[in-house]
Amino acid sequence: MYYDLHTHTVWSDGELSATALVACAADAGVRVLALTDHDTVAGLEEAASAADIHGIVLVSGVEVSMSWQSFGVHIVGLDIDPSYEPLQRGLRRLQEIRRARAVAIVQALADAGLGDAREVLVREGVVSRTHIADWLVAQGHARDRAVAFKRFLARGGPGHVGVMWADMAEVVSWIRGAGGCAVLAHPTRYRLSSGRLQQLVREFAAAGGAALEVVTAGLDAGEIARLARLAEHYHLRASVGSDYHKPLPWRPHPGGLPDLPANCVPVWQERLRMQPRALV
Ligand code: AMP
Ligand code: MN
Ligand code: MN
Ligand code: MN
Repeated sequence: MYYDLHTHTVWSDGELSATALVACAADAGVRVLALTDHDTVAGLEEAASAADIHGIVLVSGVEVSMSWQSFGVHIVGLDIDPSYEPLQRGLRRLQEIRRARAVAIVQALADAGLGDAREVLVREGVVSRTHIADWLVAQGHARDRAVAFKRFLARGGPGHVGVMWADMAEVVSWIRGAGGCAVLAHPTRYRLSSGRLQQLVREFAAAGGAALEVVTAGLDAGEIARLARLAEHYHLRASVGSDYHKPLPWRPHPGGLPDLPANCVPVWQERLRMQPRALV
């Protein structure tokens, strides 16, 4: 697949620098790459320079944290102007919420007798629960990240801290105001009933959302077809993104995803800055 429109770097919870991510994607044959770190646009400049060197297109993106009903839902913004002031202000607010949540989690883990995790608070990029999960693994409290999330950070766990992210109208207005299109990320990962998912997609379309992430890691052909029908039904476009964080044997590399089904309208259609460079 030439397109990969959902990836992460060390500026959020990915493992690669922006330069290394772009090199990795270019090596894997990606020609149009979106960097979409959680609640930050800090890696975009470096990624754009690296993309120039490799002759690929870098789409400016971000993955914004949103609260919808009682769920944390992620909205990817693509082809945004990262300097748009209301977007920057919104992201600063989300970064502050992240920091305050991390401090509260660190305190809760200490209260639960799990040790002093303050070191996770010291980083240049945004702080994510992933960093706390990795700390729990390094301390021997959990075998891997998934166990750390399940046992300590998920609802009911000693390190669970609920937060209110941005709401849907705000997120869509920041992204659209920045000239971008809003994409509902990994729609099957919220564990919503099919009725609830339809409600989310309907409200997202009505709020000015542009697309559904129809192809993402871990979906089978049936799930992809179902999301494609959902997008079609609500007149949304379709996006493709690996949600790449780091090399893992069971996760795709950048671009390592199937094509969009034929009934989809690609999110990049008629967007000049999202077309591959001519191969000359
Ligand atoms: P945050 O945005 O700080 O709440 O952290 C959420 C991030 O943690 C997601 O973007 C995923 O990368 C990662 N994550 C969430 N749940 C799990 C899980 N069960 N196992 C491993 N990683 C997870
Ligand atoms: Mn993540
Ligand atoms: Mn996400
Ligand atoms: Mn992501």
